[in-house]
Amino acid sequence: MGYQSSSSENPNLESTLKSRFDEDRSTALMSSYAAWLRKHPSALESFEGMMMPAKGKSLVVFLDYDGTLSPIVEDPDQAFISDNMRSALQEVACIFPTAIVTGRRRDKVKEFVQLHNVIYAGSHGMDMLTPVSPLRCNNMHKSGALDEEGDEVVSYQPAKAFLPTIQELLKVLKEKTKTIKGAMIEDNKFCISVHFRRVNIEDVNSLKDMVKSIIEAYSGFRITGGRKVIEIRPRIDWDKGRALQYLIQNLGFNDSNDFLPLYIGDDKTDEDAFKVIKDVGRGYPVIVSSIPKETKASYSLRDTNEVMAFLVNLVNWKKSSSASN
Ligand SMILES: [Mg+2]
Repeated sequence: MGYQSSSSENPNLESTLKSRFDEDRSTALMSSYAAWLRKHPSALESFEGMMMPAKGKSLVVFLDYDGTLSPIVEDPDQAFISDNMRSALQEVACIFPTAIVTGRRRDKVKEFVQLHNVIYAGSHGMDMLTPVSPLRCNNMHKSGALDEEGDEVVSYQPAKAFLPTIQELLKVLKEKTKTIKGAMIEDNKFCISVHFRRVNIEDVNSLKDMVKSIIEAYSGFRITGGRKVIEIRPRIDWDKGRALQYLIQNLGFNDSNDFLPLYIGDDKTDEDAFKVIKDVGRGYPVIVSSIPKETKASYSLRDTNEVMAFLVNLVNWKKSSSASN
């Protein structure tokens, strides 16, 4: 009987087995991604067919920020948008009404993006400034205001009454989470993010339990999840989907059958907007993901590079369809 060495006695065998395991794992992942892509086709590969119903209609573009326009990074303060993405976005916004709907503070994302022809909806749509003209507006829940450039805008902040408690909660969270290394509290004005991207894996559950027990004392608030982040939001009937409906109405498209909403996002919170588009029955909910995940989106893009390529396609499509008319 021949001698058979175990993998631990033979480093070469161990390395061969590991690389086979990695290969098998990556083949399995590729095949599950391919199956998922059949249900949520690539918006780049399906572009021509996707845009057929949009000919002669107004496209309204909605975009999430983190993981959609900027890559997810360790430090949320460093989530910069690339110059190429900014140029693509600027061109899109010159052609189509364009809004960024983010969980971040409105002013923070505006600082990152630095474009003036884009509508910014911060705090998951709980903080919006929309231009007065040429938009159609009603007077509900609104107050006249000026933006940073002095242009007249309409402000909509449905969670304004929660601001003092949010400030109190921020102090409590910052104090209590000091004991967990890497935990970072972000003030998003009408909501709070507790980032745990830099927290040791063995401390993540303690952090989640700690945040949960703090929030239990504040019945007006709820916890939702995101990518390596715990979100604390006022318990009001408002989310990115409601923000999308509000913006569509304010852009004057609500009663029109001649518009199609396009929403691109990568977060769980973006699913509320995907649902609204699905319920309307027309438009394009597009998820950004490089792995299969449960979603209401109809189309997909793999990462921020594909988002940029899609935005460039959109501009070229509009230019060529205008030229041919
Ligand atoms: Mg995101």
